[in-house]
Parts: sequence; structure tokens; C-alpha cells
Amino acid sequence: MADTTDIIKCPACDKVMKKLYIQEDDLHIDICLDGCGGIFFDNRELEKFDEKHENADKILEAIEGKKFVQVNDVELRICPACGLPMVKMGAADGTVQIDVCNTCGGKFLDNGELQKIRKYKNDHQKVDNIIDGIMKTVYSDIKPNKRRMFFEKLVSKYV
Ligand SMILES: [Zn+2]
Ligand SMILES: [Zn+2]
Repeated sequence: MADTTDIIKCPACDKVMKKLYIQEDDLHIDICLDGCGGIFFDNRELEKFDEKHENADKILEAIEGKKFVQVNDVELRICPACGLPMVKMGAADGTVQIDVCNTCGGKFLDNGELQKIRKYKNDHQKVDNIIDGIMKTVYSDIKPNKRRMFFEKLVSKYV
């Protein structure tokens, strides 16, 4: 679905969300600046900001250091773009629960979740690189996509 240009209300605290225009990608991100600090991403927008190397400065600058109201993040949320219930989905291997709309693909992140996802992806990459290095020298016959699995099995025996 296309970028929403309509003014929407926060699915967590019902405050009117603020549009943040990201020039680089020519899209608008909705942020709950007057309420809970949650962020609504239209379909596929999150993918542009969820990795450490991707530029999310504008979003992070807008929310960092601000006080936001606490919200209950286990509560059912209604998609602000299409009015239907969203489903909880684990991100960053379940360390974060985000709300996803199966109809429009919109995603709502509570305050702090974007940072966690970005950090997690970065850590993951580091671990992958280390594992790759070990595997290349020790188990060069194992295919790259199997290496992580193999390594995790190995480690789980000892921890
Ligand atoms: Zn809110
Ligand atoms: Zn929706």
C-alpha cells in the first residue's frame, strides 16, 4: 500500500501522530510525538530503517531524549490506516513484539523498539561474521547458510 498522507491517530494512545518527511526516501513516517513515542510504518517502510547501516537519524532525532507516556503493549491495536485489528509479531528473534496489519502491511513499533531492532540486526551481523571466520577455517565444507545452525547446535551443548 502507498504511503499514507492522511493524518492518523496513534493505535496505542489515540493521540494525533506527527508526520515526519524523509526526503531521501520520499516518504512519511508517522510518529506519536505528543503521546507514547510509537512509530507507524506503512507497508515496507520499516525495511528501510531497521538495519544499523540504514539512515534512521531523522526518526531517532525526533524521539530521542523525549519523555513519552507509558502504554500497554500487550493490548490489541487497531491499524490506523485501515481500521482493522493488528497482530503481534516477534521481531529481532522475539526480543521485540511489534504490531502488524495483515491487510495493509503497516507496522507499529512502541517507543524504543526500533532502536532494539536496529541494534539486534547489527549484533547479529557481527556474530555471523565471527562464525563465518571460524567456519571458513575449520569447517569449510559446510555451506554458509548451514553454518549458523551448526554452530548454534554446537554451542547449545555447552551453555
Ligand atoms: Zn501513541
Ligand atoms: Zn492496515
